[in-house]
Amino acid sequence: MTGFDYAARMERARRELVVREVDVLLISLGSDLPYLTGYTAMPLERLTMAVVPRDGEPVLVIPELEAPRVTPRPDVFRVHAWGETEDPVAIVAGLMGRATQAMIGDHTWSVFLLGLQQVLPATRFLSARPVTEALRIIKEPAEIGLLRTAGASADRVAALLADHPFAGKTELQVSREIGAMLEANGTDVAGFAIVASGPNGASPHHEAGDRIIREGDAIVVDFGGKVGGYSSDTTRMYHVGDPPLRYREVHEIVRVAQQEAVAAVQPGVTAESVDRAARSVIEAAGYGEYFIHRTGHGIGLDGHEDPYIVSGSSRELEAGMAFSIEPGIYLPGEFGVRIEDIVVCGDGGVERMNNSPRDVVVVA
Ligand code: ZN
Ligand code: ZN
Ligand code: ZN
Repeated sequence: MTGFDYAARMERARRELVVREVDVLLISLGSDLPYLTGYTAMPLERLTMAVVPRDGEPVLVIPELEAPRVTPRPDVFRVHAWGETEDPVAIVAGLMGRATQAMIGDHTWSVFLLGLQQVLPATRFLSARPVTEALRIIKEPAEIGLLRTAGASADRVAALLADHPFAGKTELQVSREIGAMLEANGTDVAGFAIVASGPNGASPHHEAGDRIIREGDAIVVDFGGKVGGYSSDTTRMYHVGDPPLRYREVHEIVRVAQQEAVAAVQPGVTAESVDRAARSVIEAAGYGEYFIHRTGHGIGLDGHEDPYIVSGSSRELEAGMAFSIEPGIYLPGEFGVRIEDIVVCGDGGVERMNNSPRDVVVVA
């Protein structure tokens, strides 16, 4: 990842450490490391860890054989490569000095945390999530730009699917076709493509399988991938042949619920009030018990991250937060309907990253 100001992110991380009276931040696997350093570690058994002291130079401790993968950023961190016969836990412990409080990333193999706790029994280890979340939850303009590009790529595929034959193919076949279409239309890496046909649509996270799609099926198509490390995620509804009235009614309820929730997004409102905006439409129509999941999830370097748009979350939305709005109605044995866009909360209003038509699309 290029084009981001990693030094500024490191500085913000340090300011969070000062506020929280934490001596050092330790970040291993997962998206926190590329966020802070531009480097994505291989999720293997050898230890990679950024050691970010509150005062002092950040050090990226990395296996010697992976050091060539690191883009040097001397203004952001120094690299300490460890050889095959060295003990990386001892190296990290040495860099931590006399830390009384350390924060450690959620995506760290437990073997390394246990090792550090043994070497440094006086150090208190806390989850780094409050710090990493505070940084990552507000997207910079360049990050929003990548979310926009990723969304536009997914929208092109959603449009192409209107002319795409479904009937006679298995869900898995269509799922693989969508992956290829994403990569042919500007997505760097296809991520996932849920294709849930007929009664399978009533299972929100149905895995595309060997069911053959046929005339009369409603199909939930939920897909996304990454552009420059940032995810897309959109759901649209297709129907093989003309949908019956009952389907159209349920689809319209979900469409209105999704629209109401998107319209509710603005700085200062709570996450749960956005969930409520969608849920009250579906409840008023008598389908409340069939909307069986939260309204949305944050998105960025990870496909699911903070903030979660869920009942019980009093978190106030702020400009720069990016998340999905994806209400659904799931009727067991019949069909499911979900409509999903990624949106960004802005000072001047909400921006949708997905803009393909939200009506049911009749396909062959
Ligand atoms: Zn999901
Ligand atoms: Zn989705
Ligand atoms: Zn989603």
